[in-house]
Amino acid sequence: MATKYVFFFGNGKADGNATMKPELGGKGANLAEMTNIGLPVPAGFTISTEVCTYYYANDKKYPPELTTQVDEAMSAIEKAMGKKFGDTTNPLLVSCRSGARESMPGMMDTVLNIGLNDTTVQALAKASGNERFAWDSYRRFVQMYGDVVLGMKPEKKTDIDPFEELLEKKKHAAKVKFDNELSVQQLKELVQEFKDAVKKRTGKDFPTDPKQQVWGAVGAVFGSWMNDRAIVYRRTYGIPHEWGTAVNVQAMVFGNLGDDCATGVALTRDGALGTPGYCGDYLINAQGEDVVAGIRTPERIEETLAKAMPKAFAELDDIGKKLENHYKDVQDIEFTVERGKVYMLQTRNAKRTGFAAVRIAVDLVDEGKISEKDALSAKRLPADDLNQLLQPVFDKAGKDAAVKNGQGLTKGINAGPGAATGQIVFHADEAEQKYLANPSVELVLVRRETTPEDLRGMKVAKGILTAFGGASSHAALVSRQMGKVCVVGASDLEINYEAATVTVNGKTLKEGEYISIDGFTGEVFSGKVETKPSEIVQVLINKTMKAEDSPTYQRFAKLMSWADKHRTLKVRTNADTPKDATSAVAFGAEGIGLCRTEHMFFDHVDEFREMILASDLPTREKALAKLLPFQRDDFAGLFRAMNGRPVTIRLLDPPLHEFLPHDHNTQSALAAKLGIPVDYIAKRVHELHESNPMLGHRGCRLGIVFPEITAMQARAIFEAACIVKKEGIDVKPEVMIPLVGFITEFKDQEKTIREQAAKVFDEKKAKIDYLVGTMIEVPRACAAADQIAGGAEFFSFGTNDLTQTTLGMSRDDYGGFINYYKEHDIVPNDPFQTIDQDGVGSLMKVGVEKGRGQRKDLKIGICGEHGGDPASVMFCHKIGLDYVSCSPFRVPIARLAAAQIAVSSPR
Ligand code: PEP
Ligand code: MG
Repeated sequence: MATKYVFFFGNGKADGNATMKPELGGKGANLAEMTNIGLPVPAGFTISTEVCTYYYANDKKYPPELTTQVDEAMSAIEKAMGKKFGDTTNPLLVSCRSGARESMPGMMDTVLNIGLNDTTVQALAKASGNERFAWDSYRRFVQMYGDVVLGMKPEKKTDIDPFEELLEKKKHAAKVKFDNELSVQQLKELVQEFKDAVKKRTGKDFPTDPKQQVWGAVGAVFGSWMNDRAIVYRRTYGIPHEWGTAVNVQAMVFGNLGDDCATGVALTRDGALGTPGYCGDYLINAQGEDVVAGIRTPERIEETLAKAMPKAFAELDDIGKKLENHYKDVQDIEFTVERGKVYMLQTRNAKRTGFAAVRIAVDLVDEGKISEKDALSAKRLPADDLNQLLQPVFDKAGKDAAVKNGQGLTKGINAGPGAATGQIVFHADEAEQKYLANPSVELVLVRRETTPEDLRGMKVAKGILTAFGGASSHAALVSRQMGKVCVVGASDLEINYEAATVTVNGKTLKEGEYISIDGFTGEVFSGKVETKPSEIVQVLINKTMKAEDSPTYQRFAKLMSWADKHRTLKVRTNADTPKDATSAVAFGAEGIGLCRTEHMFFDHVDEFREMILASDLPTREKALAKLLPFQRDDFAGLFRAMNGRPVTIRLLDPPLHEFLPHDHNTQSALAAKLGIPVDYIAKRVHELHESNPMLGHRGCRLGIVFPEITAMQARAIFEAACIVKKEGIDVKPEVMIPLVGFITEFKDQEKTIREQAAKVFDEKKAKIDYLVGTMIEVPRACAAADQIAGGAEFFSFGTNDLTQTTLGMSRDDYGGFINYYKEHDIVPNDPFQTIDQDGVGSLMKVGVEKGRGQRKDLKIGICGEHGGDPASVMFCHKIGLDYVSCSPFRVPIARLAAAQIAVSSPR
């Protein structure tokens, strides 16, 4: 049998269903599903993603069977709709829309009103009894087809769309503001002028054959899979290029037939904060593109639709509930009301901010719609999005002060929560350039509206502010997904791109000046506004807010309690101070996975330098004796803060150059303080210089050559442990040796550590259980993990160094090329952020297998930066690690990621 490429839906029955997203794309699969569950969907068909793959593999040709299958499906639409394509009395019009497996809002192309020509337009006018509507649709069709299929859309922002220019001219001549104010005659003229423009530009007549029009549109949609913005989007969200898009051809229904017609887009709950109830935009007497394009500012469904169209609203409300019950998630829908009747054109799981995601997940469990396990799904709440709940927000006092100072500018629609302050930038490409020149630059992208071309700039901005568009505009949708602070539809803004200024109520701000936007309330301020910590941080860390006063915190806590119930991976923290350790515990850390002892010397840098610079044992021991009490106090502080939880303390591992005094002034000051000649210091700095300090005399190599350093640190650890234990607090020290590659290195250091432990316990008449383990951060340690586990009681993967040494890519220098690598798909991710599973990950697997082969109960964790990256956390779960360790603010993210993988792939 011939391969099935075309899947019909209509009249309550569909060839496909919601599970067929890989073949039908999200839109096609859900149109089929909605048809199957009895919702009003205009008939249509989906050309599968397989055709897209074929198209690109075969020099942009289609499989031979496709034509017949499309013809058959077209006849089926005609039958279902009781109209005929190209008919001279009752013509069927169709739309042609893209639809990939994962939604890519606005990134690919769409053509509406296909099937119109000089004859069918007359028939449509007659059949609809509305000549204006017919000509308006025709005008839109020629424009859209010209832009999308015939390639007349300007490539650069500064170029002018020929159709827009003609439309503007026509409106100007007619002295009207909106296109729906143009007369039938003026629309007729416009259609002719548009066609002339096509002829002039392409040298060909505008195609009149409806069939040819459909194939043109299908080709354009497949072609749009490979346009720049779609490629950038896929790269950003990790969507494989091989997936391809499906194409949906569907009977048109019309929202622009008159005042009993409308078109709209909506979420079944608010996507910014998660508040229950419809949240969306609609326009009476308009087509779908008008709502998202942000040209006319739409009405809010939740505010006015019930009054304007009570019957349609009731129907829509009912559909919304059915959809949520069926899909068990918030839906993002497109609908059209034609002469009072609602038609569904799309549904998909809604994109949402981290705030909304937490609220929606918890509410759906409370409403009995989903289980706790469902609520934890990474699809509903990507673990990284929790970050949004931990970021600062504007302080009320700060905002009041700003208002008092006259900084209040205006108010728009709150589309992406949070607080953003940054320098104004008007163009996305400029934002990107500024960011590339200085990644810590704070920018707010200010635009009349955003389009998919602005994606790159939106990515690098702290916040996005637009003058037009509603809660479902492109800016709102994309910002929400990116977790950006966003305010849209601030219609008081008069943006002048040429002058690079924005004027609000007589006040003008220039590019580069600061502006602040509050994504919770929609408020816009000039200049900077004070921020305060998020409610969760206020409750957990600063203790400036009570849990019962913060519903946001309560929902977060509920979700995290479910995460803890289901995860098997433990989560520790990387912390060097009691303050960080305490914060991490408040965020749910179950121990310290890495205390970098060299960081503790930042406050005692002179004594530390004295130790490094010492050229003989007595001098070094003198310096070490000064450091011992500091270290002991620091360790005691950590043990107290961790209150019986395990604390992994890593012995000294500084790249020495980070601590040496390099300039003459610092050297002189140190010489004076230590009472030694400055020349001596300069000479030692010179002697200690390394060409490649990251691969130099660091890690255990330091303690092996200078055992007195290890002895001092071990003594400090065990003395601190004895002191804290005496206070009645349980202590669980785990001493970790860095950069081990040979078992002999481990043994050497272990001996010194255990000797010190024995001495201290003897002196203090105490006994404390402790472990001695190692970092695994060079490839040799993975390869020889069986030997090393013969000595080490635990392993902790130091994936920062393991990545550096496996890839031969300096962790300090890779910034120069990594962006290019990512842009050109050489690497899928930054390997220092997300574990390179094929390379570094394979070595980790070897390390785990060999280590546990030698010592069955070997405890294994990770403490590189990857320990807080959701994809890496999930990988660690899969290869059987016991814990991940990350910075305090990443702890909730790691807890959630660990639960998500435990639920989807139990071990
Ligand atoms: C590592 O290498 O992954 C690690 C945690 O150690 P550091 O970053 O201190 O080298
Ligand atoms: Mg390291």
